[in-house]
Amino acid sequence: MPTMKSSMSKNRKSQREKDLTSRYFSGDFDEDRSEAKQRFTARSRDAQQNKIERTAVLRENKLSSDEIEGLPTGEVIQVHSLFCEVLHEGKTHLCTTRKTLSKLSDTSIVVGDMVRFRARVDEANTEAGLPNAVIEQSLPRRTVLTRADSFKGMKQHPIVANAEQMLIVASLLLPSVKWGLIDRMLVAAQSGGLSPIICLNKVDLADGATHAALRAEADDALAHYSGLGIRILQTSVEKNSGIDALREILTNHQTVLAGHSGVGKSSLIRAVQSDLNIRIGAISGYTMKGRHTTTSARRYPLHVGGAVIDTPGVKLFGLWGVTADNLLEYFPDVQRDVAPAWRKSSYERIRASLKAT
Ligand code: GDP
Repeated sequence: MPTMKSSMSKNRKSQREKDLTSRYFSGDFDEDRSEAKQRFTARSRDAQQNKIERTAVLRENKLSSDEIEGLPTGEVIQVHSLFCEVLHEGKTHLCTTRKTLSKLSDTSIVVGDMVRFRARVDEANTEAGLPNAVIEQSLPRRTVLTRADSFKGMKQHPIVANAEQMLIVASLLLPSVKWGLIDRMLVAAQSGGLSPIICLNKVDLADGATHAALRAEADDALAHYSGLGIRILQTSVEKNSGIDALREILTNHQTVLAGHSGVGKSSLIRAVQSDLNIRIGAISGYTMKGRHTTTSARRYPLHVGGAVIDTPGVKLFGLWGVTADNLLEYFPDVQRDVAPAWRKSSYERIRASLKAT
């Protein structure tokens, strides 16, 4: 697996830049500059206070490896720029990360990581919402999902660890399904060790006779994927069809959501569980108001067990360890020369993009 590097200082800077960008797009940046300035001053005071706290926590004695092994293991459920939230036996611990973290994984902490942490007995800190624990070790990942910076992008950053499956959502119409994109998402899932599920949504939009050809093409494509051992699902939020099957697929699993904006991801999740709103507000193409600019993963626990993980702002997942030479492993149909033309062309396109890096 390629080695990834990240730096806290870089993250901090880019987070601030992102904050500025999101405020700019949300329209409140120019409206009140002086208010913005005051807010930033308050923010730097908070940052300073946080820094002092973190240093105090980190100054405590370093543990031996035996001691580390005896620490509780929790799951990282949210990553902020300076702290992580770690879930252990139903309780969330706000943790700072030891700089000399004894890492068994090869990158910084991401959502889904299993970590050994040491809690401080400091209720005052807990009540003040300050970190009360230190992550001492991050355990090896069973799966990893990365973000690619461009279509060619070999520069990849892990964003989710240990998810079991990826729900690849596409819509039959509005926007029309693009099988080539699904093929790329399949490689992204499988290369990271996640089991993919293809969910074709908005099937109600192609009910009439005018769309018979489109439906037939979709049925053929889905049957082809199914023949490759990939789970498939057809849904309509509008008609409430396929929703029970989707809920069953999500139950007790950690599932990453994938698929372009507008295909119905948030509607599907809301249909599965009515109190789950994974995106705040609708995206307006003109002002971009309401658009999430964060690139960190967000995890939403489900009442039925398991969780869905959304990655707002991530346009493209990386292909972990995939090269032009081993890509064929992800296209067994092309390998056996039984692939339809569109699958061959997906393979060629991805291969060309890998060669160009
Ligand atoms: P997201 O960006 O992938 O989260 O997509 P949304 O859930 O915001 O859905 C985009 C639009 O598609 C909204 O106007 C939804 O009401 C609509 N939509 C979602 N699912 C369906 C469906 O199954 N059928 C129809 N006709 N419209 C849908």
